[in-house]
Amino acid sequence: MSQVSKRIYLSPPHMNGSEIGYIQQAFDENWIAPAGPNLTGFEAEMCEYNGIRCSVALSSGTAAMHLALRYIGITRGDVVFCSDLTFSGSCNPVIYEGAKLVFIDSQESSWNMSPVALEKALKAAKKRGTLPKAVIIVDLYGQSANYDKILPLCREYGVPVIEDAAEALGAEFNGRKCGTFGEISIFSFNGNKIITTSGGGMAVSDDAQAIEKIHFWANQAKEPANYYLHKELGFNYRMSNICAGIGRGQLRTLDERIARRKEINAFYIESFKSLPVTAAPVFEGSKPNYWLTVFTIDEGCEKTPDEIISALAADNIEARRAWNPMHSQPYYSDCEYFKENEDFSVSEHIFQRGICMPSGSQMTGEDLERVAKVFSSAFGK
Ligand SMILES: *Cc1c(COP(=O)(O)O)cnc(C)c1O
Repeated sequence: MSQVSKRIYLSPPHMNGSEIGYIQQAFDENWIAPAGPNLTGFEAEMCEYNGIRCSVALSSGTAAMHLALRYIGITRGDVVFCSDLTFSGSCNPVIYEGAKLVFIDSQESSWNMSPVALEKALKAAKKRGTLPKAVIIVDLYGQSANYDKILPLCREYGVPVIEDAAEALGAEFNGRKCGTFGEISIFSFNGNKIITTSGGGMAVSDDAQAIEKIHFWANQAKEPANYYLHKELGFNYRMSNICAGIGRGQLRTLDERIARRKEINAFYIESFKSLPVTAAPVFEGSKPNYWLTVFTIDEGCEKTPDEIISALAADNIEARRAWNPMHSQPYYSDCEYFKENEDFSVSEHIFQRGICMPSGSQMTGEDLERVAKVFSSAFGK
């Protein structure tokens, strides 16, 4: 039997050793629950890192999106626009509130929401008198959307923006951190994100009132009283003080992690120069965090992502397809979908041809060489 190679994962957690100190301290001081200094510390450190005034740590990015939508006032029958090419956590909370989704295609230059398609959708909605109550804009694979174009458009139509920066912690656009472009923005610390709290999320905003309200709802909407008093619907969405400790430790090496993922991205691009593949574009003015390196197989090449991913899997290397656009999901098949050109869907094209490469920051040079070798030979090179 042949020796099985060490498993290389897509984007596994990468601890730096300092996390355990924060957890130990929480144990020593019995701050296991409910809140505690790691939570407030993590929130303050995230605010400082991102250059934003207020934050509240929650149980997931999806929970953060849910409460952000509630704060904006999304309710039954409302319409919300959302980036089409994303993970379902971006948009499922819209359904939790009984609102309707309209999906907006990507632009080729950033893979994020197309301002052209967005303008089309806004115009059509205005004509019908069904302007959206919010637009959810995703910073996919760790790269900012085109906020120079999108924010003025949303302002013109008076529609608030929620930024889904779940994948983009530490990325920038024109010198400003992702997660500062929405009226409320959200992050995720799920296990495969650039830093993790084992599971968790955060809502951030310069609007103190918004974050205070989300904090209140996330703690079961308990009114200040000597007994249990509820005037509003509550949720059990708060992050634990233990998880926040992991986050504080992780945050200390975030910039190193970004630098390493950037190196990995450069390595793949250099190694695959002669292959019929193209890396995801880096948009002008944007500084990605390189969370995942994604390639698309060029037009004219017969190979499919599934074939390449299978070849990698045979050598115990995890790679994945690109996000399957929301308008293609059976659950969302009734939703309206706007694209730049009627006869071409950018998000479908990316899904049909995209391969997400193993991009974990602890990958060694040897790991990278191994991935490159298997990947190249899958293309017959
Ligand atoms: C991971 C992710 C989410 C959801 O975050 P969770 O913490 O897993 O709930 C939302 N949007 C995008 C784009 C994501 O990648």
